[in-house]
Amino acid sequence: MIPTLILLFVVGAVTGSFLNVCIYRLPRRESVIAPASHCPECDRPLNWYDNIPLVSYLALRGKCRRCGTSIPVRYPLVELLNAVLFVLAGWRFGLTAELFPALLLISTLIVVFFIDLEHYIIPNIVVLPVAAVGVTAMVAISLSATDPDFPSWWTFPLAGVASAGFFFLITLIFPKGMGMGDVKLAGMLGFFLGRSVTVGLFLGFLLGALVGIGLIAAGRKGRKSRVPFGPFLAVGALAALFFGNELMQLYLGLFDSPEG
Ligand SMILES: [Zn+2]
Repeated sequence: MIPTLILLFVVGAVTGSFLNVCIYRLPRRESVIAPASHCPECDRPLNWYDNIPLVSYLALRGKCRRCGTSIPVRYPLVELLNAVLFVLAGWRFGLTAELFPALLLISTLIVVFFIDLEHYIIPNIVVLPVAAVGVTAMVAISLSATDPDFPSWWTFPLAGVASAGFFFLITLIFPKGMGMGDVKLAGMLGFFLGRSVTVGLFLGFLLGALVGIGLIAAGRKGRKSRVPFGPFLAVGALAALFFGNELMQLYLGLFDSPEG
């Protein structure tokens, strides 16, 4: 198990490096494939040894080798976050078929978190293809699962459609509160998480409300100013991915009679 977790850390850090490219370029409508990574300030292309996840940031002390411009701390942070969450997924799911959609969901949510936080958009080019892959993977895993407790295949498409429908209703009632990006993201989460998505959405709303109240109280935001909702959904969904079953049991347990 330990070698697998170390491998997942390395794969996670390398993937995180690519996520940084997506986070920077997708909102600017630039290709994520070409040109090769370069300093946005002086255009210096990065040597391979300046592009090693985590290591290069430390070696360069967070500055471009040519012009000395600071590299945003978001770069090593995204690499570390993706690496640590890949390890957590390995610990949670082991080397099973479920691990792969989990890794895809983790990386997608990291991209959505940082793009929505900065640009107030959730790109279709990320969410729609990933949603399609997610629902296909989960239906296939459910149909081939030998564990009788594994959720039925139809719970995944149903959870996606229901979540998107629920968010679409919210946008009709509060047109300024959320956008269609949130609707599509909620649908994607349902496709991956199945019935656990209820836990993810609930935690997202709870976190959004707490942070929103906190920002207003601290005078950082007015009652009417916009706060992107995608980051809260992303955090709620990650909690549901790792602890969805436990949180659901805990919640249902509150209504159990003491005799069981
Ligand atoms: Zn530079």
